[in-house]
Amino acid sequence: MAKNILIIGGGPAAVFAAIEAKKRDREAEVVLATDEAAEPYEKPPLSKAVLLGKANPEDALIAGKGGLAAHGVTVQLDARCSAIDREARQVITTKGQLPYDALVIATGSLMRELPMLPPGAPRVHYLRTDAHGRALKAGLASCKHVAVIGGGLIGLEVAASAAQLGMEVTVIEFAPRIMARVCDDETSAFLLAEHQHHGVEIELSTSIKQVTPQLDDRLALETNDGDIVAADLVVVGTGVKPDEALAATAGLTVQDGIVVDEFCRTSDPNIFAAGDCTRFPGPQGAVRLENWRHAQDHGAVAGRNAAGANDAYRAVPSFWSEQYDLYIQGVGWPDPSVPRIRRPLSGKSLLMLEMASGVITYALGINAQRDLAAIRRLIERKVPVDAAALADPSKPFADMLKAKA
Ligand SMILES: Cc1cc2nc3c(=O)[nH]c(=O)nc-3n(C[C@H](O)[C@H](O)[C@H](O)COP(=O)(O)OP(=O)(O)OC[C@H]3O[C@@H](n4cnc5c(N)ncnc54)[C@H](O)[C@@H]3O)c2cc1C
Repeated sequence: MAKNILIIGGGPAAVFAAIEAKKRDREAEVVLATDEAAEPYEKPPLSKAVLLGKANPEDALIAGKGGLAAHGVTVQLDARCSAIDREARQVITTKGQLPYDALVIATGSLMRELPMLPPGAPRVHYLRTDAHGRALKAGLASCKHVAVIGGGLIGLEVAASAAQLGMEVTVIEFAPRIMARVCDDETSAFLLAEHQHHGVEIELSTSIKQVTPQLDDRLALETNDGDIVAADLVVVGTGVKPDEALAATAGLTVQDGIVVDEFCRTSDPNIFAAGDCTRFPGPQGAVRLENWRHAQDHGAVAGRNAAGANDAYRAVPSFWSEQYDLYIQGVGWPDPSVPRIRRPLSGKSLLMLEMASGVITYALGINAQRDLAAIRRLIERKVPVDAAALADPSKPFADMLKAKA
């Protein structure tokens, strides 16, 4: 009898799990159940091209033009999964019960909310879904001054988009520097200067103490430093947390993320999980990642294994961000304890590398896509490199790959 493979979620982890499961087992009935109303779409453009009016959320389907149907996957929209009956091997959804022989949970992450600025409050925006993207775009149209809470990836992309639309922008960041989770000091300082160059005001090492609606309808945000920022619109970008409630209620092991092994298997051998919602084994111990490429690669492994394969997840992770004319990219596993090597590049480009035991372990670049593509292969293949050559822009990374071959 054909196997039932059920995938919960509507992001890249779920979509690639579904596509790869079907590829691996053509006879299987593969169903993807998402609580969203639309065929799974790309989220990254929401903070960039969508706000800038260059794209609509529905323009980019994750599964490609024909959607999931073109891959032989059945999609259940508006199907929120509320419980997993592990004994009966079925999932309870708002559309009824769905049976499974193998299940993949890819519920992604939930926005960290600020109680002082709750979602749905007037002039307050969060950004996770296409509906959020549309609402924010509409809000920005009648707005002069935007306050962004959080100087991480999403907050800074929104700040850059709003600045390019001609708005006054203030970013309020708790940490002493921006993008501190993924950038070293020098890259943070470079990005800070770029935002300031575009007129964005960035307040560091502070947070919101009080929010007061004003008579003119704006919100006055008082910071711990005593500054008052009067904003027509506030965007909260204070990070995300794993959406693990469904798994936890089903009795699966969760620990700030659904715990999976290198095969994306949860504590139930018939249930896999992938993407933002998981904690999985990385080279430096159990880890969570919140980026698109990881979700795609992790989901693909979970889907194949749900269909009977036994693939280990070994992908080299990476993230990207776009702010103004800057393409920021990280590849590999960052480790603050490892010495950093700076490769001088011309113009508005920047490249920083980390090396351990003679191989590159992480690289962070700005407008250095070609170098980073070669570096990804050097990391994947664990090619031994010379630290002096990494710092020398006259020594192409592509040659280091050839040297190995
Ligand atoms: C605005 C924005 C911009 C971004 N930009 C970048 C970028 O430039 N670069 C980058 O690397 N990453 C970026 N990211 C992050 C990236 O999109 C995420 O890491 C990725 O989407 C995670 O994929 P996922 O499949 O694990 O989860 P998600 O994409 O979060 O998908 C989870 C899905 O599951 C659904 N779901 C949850 N619970 C249930 C349930 N109980 N029943 C049914 N369905 C459920 C959700 O509605 C959602 O559709 C961005 C994210 C956002 C929001």
